[in-house]
Amino acid sequence: MIKRRKTITVNAGPVKIGSSSPIVVQSMTKVPTVDIARCVRQVNKLARAGCRLVRIAVPTCADTAAFAKIVQKVSVPLIADVHFSPSRAIEAIEAGAAKIRLNPGNIKDPKSIHRIIDAAKIHKTAIRIGVNEASIRNLKSRDIPAQKRTAFVLKEMKKYVALFERRSFTQLVLSAKSSDCLRTIEINRRIAKLFGYPIHLGLTHAGLPEDAQIPSAVTLGTLLAEGIGDTIRVSAAANPLVETQIAKQVLIALGLYEPAEPRLEMIVCPTCARAQIDITRLARRVKKNLPDINKPLRIAVMGCIVNGPGEAADADLALCAAKNKAYVYRKGRRIAIVPETKIVPELLKQLKNL
Ligand code: SF4
Repeated sequence: MIKRRKTITVNAGPVKIGSSSPIVVQSMTKVPTVDIARCVRQVNKLARAGCRLVRIAVPTCADTAAFAKIVQKVSVPLIADVHFSPSRAIEAIEAGAAKIRLNPGNIKDPKSIHRIIDAAKIHKTAIRIGVNEASIRNLKSRDIPAQKRTAFVLKEMKKYVALFERRSFTQLVLSAKSSDCLRTIEINRRIAKLFGYPIHLGLTHAGLPEDAQIPSAVTLGTLLAEGIGDTIRVSAAANPLVETQIAKQVLIALGLYEPAEPRLEMIVCPTCARAQIDITRLARRVKKNLPDINKPLRIAVMGCIVNGPGEAADADLALCAAKNKAYVYRKGRRIAIVPETKIVPELLKQLKNL
């Protein structure tokens, strides 16, 4: 079991962020914020998919005005993503943001930051200090060595955090992202050692989903396995539901996902030359027909009876395929043999019996 790094607890509305709470999956809306109806639909879809916080960009005052309306219509707390404009930050806080994200690369003036802090204190809004390597002017050249980059990001982070602490504001979440896996891992390890605040993890500009998922899983997975990370977002140039799905898979793989309700899990063997049925097709058919069950059940679809029964011994129900038929096992005990055409109906019948 992974031992989480100890942090303080930060409250983003009713959602608690930190080591004594489950890791929070979040994503961002990808429709214009001023299109309130579409934005609300996307937020609610993300909430149903498992996001406990959703971030919305508010580049203009029309966006913060829309944000105020969206907050009223959705079921999850919202984060306002602010760049460049201290006024947007204050508007978003007053509009009901549970948390705002500030980028030290583009909001630097201490007086403006003090105004934001004062507003956040009044409205009990959490703040994420999100350093993005790409938005720090001194780090734009690609020739700067990794060590120097890490040192510079840490220096920026320390300076920024000090501004908040001097004003006794500690409802902070920290993040440092880059598009480079190793640098993101290294900088977050350093931040974890230096500060007691929760950390938000992500790999930025990761690419299309097929390109983004492995680097994101490796980066986030490495840090999470070390106990680092209290909220996560997988960035991918795709529907945000895809981001959420990848983020959840990373947490599930590490035993860190705590769903609001128990869920049905399906495992499938990778298939090999021993399989005498098209297992991928069968697994897809099974998945498509599975009812919506909120029970912690495990179903296995295996390609043969050589290794299948043993490898699926801990499944509540396992199908082990053979030529033109399948053997059905319940908790490791064989209970039926069915022809290929009856495999899915038999599985559904047995599932009901469970
Ligand atoms: S369960 Fe059988 S078919 Fe599937 S990968 Fe293992 S040995 Fe191959």
